[in-house]
Amino acid sequence: MREKSNNLFQSAVKSIPGGVDSPVRAFKSVGLTPIFIEKALDQFIYDVDGNKYLDFVLTWGPAILGHSNREVIEEIKKVAENGISFGMPSPLEVSLAEKVKRMLPFVDKVRFVNSGTEATMTAIRLARGYTKRDKVLKFNGCYHGHHDALLVQAGSGVATFGIPSTPGIPQDTVKTTLTCEYNDIDCVRKLLSNNDVACVIVEPVAGNMGVVKPEKGFLEGLREICSQTGTLLIFDEVMTGFRIHSQGAYGLFGITPDLATFGKVIGGGMPVGAVGGKKDIMDYLAPEGPVYQAGTLSGNPVAMACGLKTLEIYERDNVFNSIMEKAERFYSNLTELCENTEDISFNYAGTMFTLFFRDKAPKNLIEVNECDFDRFSRFFKFMLDNGVLLPPSQYEANFLSLKHMEEDLNRYIELLKEFLKIEGM
Ligand code: PMP
Repeated sequence: MREKSNNLFQSAVKSIPGGVDSPVRAFKSVGLTPIFIEKALDQFIYDVDGNKYLDFVLTWGPAILGHSNREVIEEIKKVAENGISFGMPSPLEVSLAEKVKRMLPFVDKVRFVNSGTEATMTAIRLARGYTKRDKVLKFNGCYHGHHDALLVQAGSGVATFGIPSTPGIPQDTVKTTLTCEYNDIDCVRKLLSNNDVACVIVEPVAGNMGVVKPEKGFLEGLREICSQTGTLLIFDEVMTGFRIHSQGAYGLFGITPDLATFGKVIGGGMPVGAVGGKKDIMDYLAPEGPVYQAGTLSGNPVAMACGLKTLEIYERDNVFNSIMEKAERFYSNLTELCENTEDISFNYAGTMFTLFFRDKAPKNLIEVNECDFDRFSRFFKFMLDNGVLLPPSQYEANFLSLKHMEEDLNRYIELLKEFLKIEGM
């Protein structure tokens, strides 16, 4: 049934470490080998063996319109006809920057990069350069990409594979990265009290330990303490941007960060990341300022066109609200099911959600670690065998798109009920 995928994986491991170019794709933590994908359309993804899956991974978030939106594909083709890379400024960069500024009023200036990792790496360097301080503070279970400063007590694949801190990162670098549990504002207050921390970086709703929500007062507290101590507040919105609200955390919580990082939806599925924020901070970036950052392919015209068209459709078709209309019934059904069943719980924010195999919805990484991971693995496999693709780890968020229909969401619930019965729950 997955013979071609299995054969491809046998070949892949001989040429690519672990057979994959990003660890969580390996399905290793759920005791399986990966499916290899042939194509993706709307809410479905198809593997090389011809299996069709209802997709809740959505390329880990970007495909908010559903896969392969026709208008976006046509735009990419049109732009590519004129050349796929210039290494010089092009009009689409200006258009996308202006669009982001219009959608997110706290962004005065924006610099485009090629991934979420590059975005947070740039934001951290900028914060250090601007404040002339070295230390950064992050939260256990938040993942901000795979660069040295932030790959400490991280979420996503790092948590999935139980890697606390990776070999290859110098001890001296780790020393400048402070960590607190998510939602622990007292810890933040203590660590910032010497006025020597450059920035606090946070996923305003965590998605990389599964969806974990900020408790009332947490983000407000961060804003207040950062302002008091001259520390920059960075919202890492690589995942939450355009997904928890059409204006991200700024829209949902009404809190303004000093800098924000973006990725995923902003590129519509192409490799795009971005750092945005206040003018006086952003102007510290070269060539205007002294903090160096660069990229041969940054602002790539095809990638910009994909991001721009995606955001145009997102606004024009009121995509966020359309998804939420369908999601609300789904979320209330799921909430009811969790309330009536022991040992499962559920968190959501906008178009992201996670089902936890734990009685109460977790509020930090310690609590996520208490989930029944064996049961999660069985759930993942059960869903896959029934044609539903979930992120292959308890430490991940599921995503909804414009193309997920009520019947698709009902299917998730029905299959979950069937699974719970099999498990005797
Ligand atoms: N920050 C957050 C919040 C993320 O979720 C991710 C990726 N999942 C990253 C940064 C890194 O982005 P990328 O994988 O594009 O480097």
